[in-house]
Amino acid sequence: MKGIEKFSLKDKVAFVTGGARGIGKAVATGFAEAGAHIVIADLDVEEGQKTAAALAAENGVRTLAVKTDVTKPESVADLIATIDREFGHLDIAFCNAGICINAPAKDMTYEQWSKVININLTGVFLTAQAAGKYMIDKSIKGSIINTASMSAHIVNVPQPQCAYNASKAGVIQLTKSLAIEWAAFGVRVNSISPGYIGTELVKASPTLIPLIDKWNAMAPMHRLGDPTELQTVTLYLASDASSFTTGSDVIVDGAFTCF
Ligand code: NDP
Repeated sequence: MKGIEKFSLKDKVAFVTGGARGIGKAVATGFAEAGAHIVIADLDVEEGQKTAAALAAENGVRTLAVKTDVTKPESVADLIATIDREFGHLDIAFCNAGICINAPAKDMTYEQWSKVININLTGVFLTAQAAGKYMIDKSIKGSIINTASMSAHIVNVPQPQCAYNASKAGVIQLTKSLAIEWAAFGVRVNSISPGYIGTELVKASPTLIPLIDKWNAMAPMHRLGDPTELQTVTLYLASDASSFTTGSDVIVDGAFTCF
């Protein structure tokens, strides 16, 4: 295989958690355009079904939406069993579902802290673990991509979000740990760290909307990223183009974390 062909995902099978909308939907679209069959794994299965149907119609690939709660081991096990039954293999896992809760650390409740850590860190562990185990057991040389954040590298201001920042820093160390453990099996594990991206997580949050102008004033490119601007970096990490890349975190933030 040479050159651009290494980026092909033809006939590979990928699951995307949080794939019904936002970054997950954009990345799932990029994977489908490169030829992958797509499983949208999201709590919002109705929106997931719409996304899956559109991807199939536009790209001629097979798609499926599976209601999945990444915080529940039995739900993740059901996702893997469904993929095995329907497709017979799994090559790419994009462990991406995540939330943000803003609260000052001194007032943050145990419930708020736990919810963020459970979805953003434990959820990534459970989905990456299930995907990695499946790939290793079936001798599949797969690629796992976890969504961290620039918040793993810097502390965002002015909004207080200590649980989110801690969860995303955890995703990077988890990614490196899995990469080391699974390198010998040919399973690669990497993460991406997006800067502010214009998805519903940001644009539909009453607490975050008033901050967008402040962030843009601080940002070297003076704008939010678009979810589609994460498609090519994830295509690289998912495909054979990145065969010697594992344990890496790729920051895509328009230089926000450079100063
Ligand atoms: P969105 O809120 O737009 O989409 C997240 C999706 O994840 C939703 O469909 C949501 O479903 C789903 N989801 C939430 N909880 C669960 C769960 N327990 N199990 C399965 N699915 C779930 O978020 P983004 O696309 O913006 O963010 C995606 C990832 O990117 C997150 O990890 C986020 O932290 C990260 N990120 C985002 C940035 C940004 O600026 N937007 C910047 C850096 C990182 P439902 O609607 O039912 O809750």
